Amino acid sequence: MFLKENLVRVRDLNQKPVLENRPYILYWMSTARRLYWNHSLDYAIHLSQKYKKELLIYEPVKVDYPWSSPRFHKFILEGMANHAKDAQKLGLVYRAFVETLDNPISEVFGSLTSSAALVVTDDYPAYIIPELFVQASKKIESKFLAVDSNSIIPLSQYGEFASAARILRYRVHRLFPEFWKFRSSSKPAKPFLENGNSWLEKNPDSPLKKIRWFSGDSEDIEKICKECNFICPDVLPVNKKNGGRKEGLKLLRRFLNQGLNGYGELRSQPKKPEESHSSLLSPYLHFGHISQEEIVSAVLDWNLEQSWNPGIIIPENRNKREGYFHPDSNVNSFLDELITWRDIGFLMFWKQPSFRKDLSILPDWIQKNLDYHRKDERPYLYSRDDLENARTHDAVWNAAQKELVLTGSMHNYMRMLWGKKVIEWTVDYETAFAILEDLNNKYAYDGRDPNSYTGILWCFGLFDRPWFPERNVFGNIRTMSSASTAKKFKLQSYFDYIRELEGFRTTLF
Ligand SMILES: Cc1cc2nc3c(=O)[nH]c(=O)nc-3n(C[C@H](O)[C@H](O)[C@H](O)COP(=O)(O)OP(=O)(O)OC[C@H]3O[C@@H](n4cnc5c(N)ncnc54)[C@H](O)[C@@H]3O)c2cc1C
Repeated sequence: MFLKENLVRVRDLNQKPVLENRPYILYWMSTARRLYWNHSLDYAIHLSQKYKKELLIYEPVKVDYPWSSPRFHKFILEGMANHAKDAQKLGLVYRAFVETLDNPISEVFGSLTSSAALVVTDDYPAYIIPELFVQASKKIESKFLAVDSNSIIPLSQYGEFASAARILRYRVHRLFPEFWKFRSSSKPAKPFLENGNSWLEKNPDSPLKKIRWFSGDSEDIEKICKECNFICPDVLPVNKKNGGRKEGLKLLRRFLNQGLNGYGELRSQPKKPEESHSSLLSPYLHFGHISQEEIVSAVLDWNLEQSWNPGIIIPENRNKREGYFHPDSNVNSFLDELITWRDIGFLMFWKQPSFRKDLSILPDWIQKNLDYHRKDERPYLYSRDDLENARTHDAVWNAAQKELVLTGSMHNYMRMLWGKKVIEWTVDYETAFAILEDLNNKYAYDGRDPNSYTGILWCFGLFDRPWFPERNVFGNIRTMSSASTAKKFKLQSYFDYIRELEGFRTTLF
């Protein structure tokens, strides 16, 4: 059910009227790719009931999105396969569309929107979405609404850009108890359906009949991916890494049973994924296969005798990283990452939506720092090609880069080291940024996300404080070293894991 308190999540993108003479409402699922825990779907269902119109849920994927590859496509299509099955069980009219050379998306989009009384989509402030909104607003003749399903706290309620996590944490703690009550539906309500008289099912002009849809049959995924003309055709799917809510929930259960206990202290230890204390959920969050609200709700209930409720909050610990949400410190530590650290990136984009953020967003103290150290001698200089192929003198860095290429993920601690070293080993800061952006977005399942940019820019000092003494290339930006990483952690098992991977290269299917 869509609650009126969630109207703050809705933006009118084109100020056009609802065209009530048209037969259906269209929900264009683009970044919140899920049927459960989804504010956009809740709102589309609410409007379907209000206007007494059927609801068509349309989940498309283009073929030429930036960094498109068989790796990401397979992940998205596996999500679609889940949705097709779930929609049947839930009694929802859902169709997945996969663009190919002979089945172009532009025609389908025109045909679907031209019969829609209104269009609802997912709001998202980064990557191709802001530009897509501009283009689509012009083409869609009826009302076009975007709904923010990104976070448990609506992005519009956070206020100004937060320049440090402690600033956003204060707002998270203040807003959370209220918005926790207004979470999206764990199971969608039923849209309007005129019994026995479905226009979508019966009318010969219905898009259900006219368009070539993806059936959701997993057997077809390999064939479809082979027909696509990808931008990065060599970035192949990773063995046993499957997209979709089912897989995301499996990982969430693993995390609750094995990872969360010890998360606070042990998550920074680089390990193979099965032994990791982190959740491994970022790809599923990125593609919208699982919602932040569902993860937060499951984690809050962890180790409690009764379901969590805001009465469990310890108000004296407000604004502190520790001890606010839950009696267990691991839960607090995890929620600080999942809400404060994730949302600070979404807010940064929300205040000024754009494809990417770059070095120009860094605050003054960093800009001055970079200007001053711009000409510092670099201890090593590597090309993009050297870096992509893990050909550096540094075994720790090479291992992290291989993990990224071969698994589509990189351990969080290694990711920070990885970014810092590229800054140290490239001709200038702009080149470092461009290489980091490209490698992260090309290989990482969770790339092309607001957190891709906050993660990379964190390596340049964003959200951090000045560190002393001043260093070569970095000045007062925090540095990290492979030698101290190797001293701090026992890296042998991580190296063994990477070696195993090398013998086990990515395969197409
Ligand atoms: C150079 C660099 C690049 C990065 N690129 C990405 C990226 O492309 N996509 C991405 O989602 N994250 C990125 N991060 C942030 C972080 O590394 C990942 O979110 C985290 O490793 C994901 O693993 P997990 O799901 O097991 O995390 P967990 O530790 O289980 O945390 C749960 C969730 O909290 C959020 N989270 C955790 N740590 C961070 C963080 N430091 N910043 C923001 N959110 C966080 C993520 O949504 C994550 O899935 C990057 C960090 C760096 C330093």
